[in-house]
This record gives sequence, C-alpha cells and structure tokens, in this order.
Amino acid sequence: MKVPFTNLKALHAPLKREIQRAIGKVIDSGEFAGGPFVERFEEQFANYCGSSHAIGVGSGTDALWLTLTAMGIGPGDEVITVPMSFIATAEAISLTGARPVFVDIDPVTYTMDPSALESAITSRTKALIPVHLFGQVAEMAPLLRVALKYNLKVIEDAAQSHGAEYQNRKAGSIGHAGCFSFYPGKNLGAIGEAGAIVTNDPQLASRLRALRDHGQTRKYHHKIIGWNSRMDGIQAAVLSLKLPNLDQENDQRRAHAAAYDALLGPIKEVSCPRTGNHRTHAYHIYSVRTPERERVLSVLAQNDIGFGIHYPVPIHLQPAYQNLGHRAGDFPISEACSKSFISLPIFAALSPIQIQAVGDALSQAWPATVLS
Ligand SMILES: *Cc1c(COP(=O)(O)O)cnc(C)c1O
Repeated sequence: MKVPFTNLKALHAPLKREIQRAIGKVIDSGEFAGGPFVERFEEQFANYCGSSHAIGVGSGTDALWLTLTAMGIGPGDEVITVPMSFIATAEAISLTGARPVFVDIDPVTYTMDPSALESAITSRTKALIPVHLFGQVAEMAPLLRVALKYNLKVIEDAAQSHGAEYQNRKAGSIGHAGCFSFYPGKNLGAIGEAGAIVTNDPQLASRLRALRDHGQTRKYHHKIIGWNSRMDGIQAAVLSLKLPNLDQENDQRRAHAAAYDALLGPIKEVSCPRTGNHRTHAYHIYSVRTPERERVLSVLAQNDIGFGIHYPVPIHLQPAYQNLGHRAGDFPISEACSKSFISLPIFAALSPIQIQAVGDALSQAWPATVLS
C-alpha cells in the first residue's frame, strides 16, 4: 500500500471552497502586503498562544533573524542553539553577524540539554534559541533558570511546535519571544511562505513591527534600518481560516503517534519518540531511531512507504559552517541521531490501514528473533 510522507492535498481538499472565498476577499480589498487581514490573524494567533502580541512576517527564518536583530544582537555576540535543527536556526544567528554556539541535545527528548548549557556560556553570550524539535517543547524551566542567572534572552524556535504545550503553556509563549514558521508543511501551514513572532514584551513587539516594514512607523519616515518582511495578506486570510482546526489536527497527530508506538513497541531495534514530563507533543514529525538505516530505508521504499530524514547532517558538520572549526565527535548525541533517525509519515488525514502498512514494513525489516 502506498503511504505518502505527507499529504497537503488531502489536508486542503475539504477547505478548498472556503480558501478560495478568503483569497477572493483579499483580492477585492487590495490589502496584499500587511494590512487588516494580517492584523486580524496576528490578534487570533497571539490569543491562541496566550501571548500579548503577534507580529506576522515573511517566514520562520525571518522571524528568528528579525527577533535577534530587534534584541540588538550582532557582530561580536554569541547565541547558543543546538546542532540538531533545520539550518535556519543557525543561519538567522549568522546573518546578524553573531556566532552560533552549539550545545548538544538530550537523548530522550531531542531538545537542548539543560545540563550542557552553562559550560557553553561566555562573556559574549547574549541569547539562546532552544528548538522545539519535531513538535516537543524543550525543557524550558532549567533553561530559563540559567538564562536568568546570566541575563540572556530566550528565543523559542517554535517552527515545528504550533499548539504544543509545556506546563500548560503554549510553545512560543514561554521565553522572551517565540518564532513560528507557517511553511505549508508545518502543523499550521500557509499556502506559501509566512512566519510570526509572539511576545509579551511591548517594546520588542513595536521594534519588530518597525523592522519588518523598513524601520518605518509612519510611511516614508524611517527611524531605524529595517527590511521588508511583511506578512502576505492572502497567507494571513488562509491562516485565519485554518487556525481553528489546529488543535483537532494535533489531536489526530497524537492519536497516530500512539498507534505507531503500539505497533513498533515490540520491535526492539526501533526506538519510538518519547515525550518529556509536563509536555504535550504536537508530532510535527514522528521520528524513530534504528540501526542499519540504509537497509531499513530500502525496505520502506520497496513497500511504497514515504519517509524523511530530519536531519542527515547536524549543523556543526555542514560545509556551510566549516568556519566554526567543529569536528565529528563534538556533539555525539546529535551525530548519532543524524545517522539513525527515520521520520515516518504523520499527518492528520493518515488512516489506520496506512499506519498498519508502515508498521508491517518495519516488522519486515526487523523480523522478530525466535529463540529456540
Ligand atoms: C521550518 C523551520 C524554520 C524556518 O522556517 P521557514 O518558514 O521555512 O523560514 C526554522 N526552524 C525550524 C526548526 C524549522 O523547522
């Protein structure tokens, strides 16, 4: 049975008429770049996250870069993050002129290891960016304690964790700022590129509003040097339409994850993802770990099962980051994960038969050893 890795067409099919109507309204109004549709979504998304402000921008990468810039971070500064993330987390740091400094991930939750944080802090450290990898919020309480002690800003990379919770607080609303991506494949996805920042800090919010719009607070009057990263009106209108479905879709993702856990639990060579204490996982990605990955991937491919690898090369070993001077062995957990992770299909419309087919393929790859 064919199981695609993801299925955006199935996700949007029941909404297609409404989406077309929403786009029509934006066309009729001419409010394409920023404007009332964006303001409306900002208010809804801030509300959803339990934050006072949301600022819609062009992408998740822009959200991270603009937040660092708004915090005054730049050349000579260091920002701590993890090597097991999408490259954008580190790129945003580099683009400000600051240096990304890595700490390894925890082997259970795959998020920033709080016990490794303090030794990475120097007099140049200004901020940390924990990444809520795969839809699970990092262990924020100890990270925030260390940040407070050293007076560091905490920026959550919540690009994979819309709606996930930590101690009953929504991802993105826990640190000084939370950065989101609405890339189409994310748990809340636009029909193009978009991103947002949420924060409770009114000064940071107004700085971000100016920065995303050429540093202007009044048309053609520029207080600071900014950039063009306004959210697109059509994306905002579609996101407003899709936001009310997010919780239900996350529930479906959690149910699918539980079904995978039950099917794969007996296969001792396959390690299922685990959720840390006080958290709800949003399962943007359901990634298992297994030895002999190449062989297992070929069994999945033979069975028409889609898969992904997030991520095959940790950031510190990417050619683009050669200048940081890292070597294999510097961050052993991230490196081991990069060699053993397989992301299985997970999306709201996944069916029980499809989940069974994925389970069957993995059982075929790892037939149970019968002891005589
Ligand atoms: C998707 C993603 C980003 C970047 O978001 P874009 O909207 O694609 O720019 C940043 N960080 C993480 C962890 C992501 O998954």
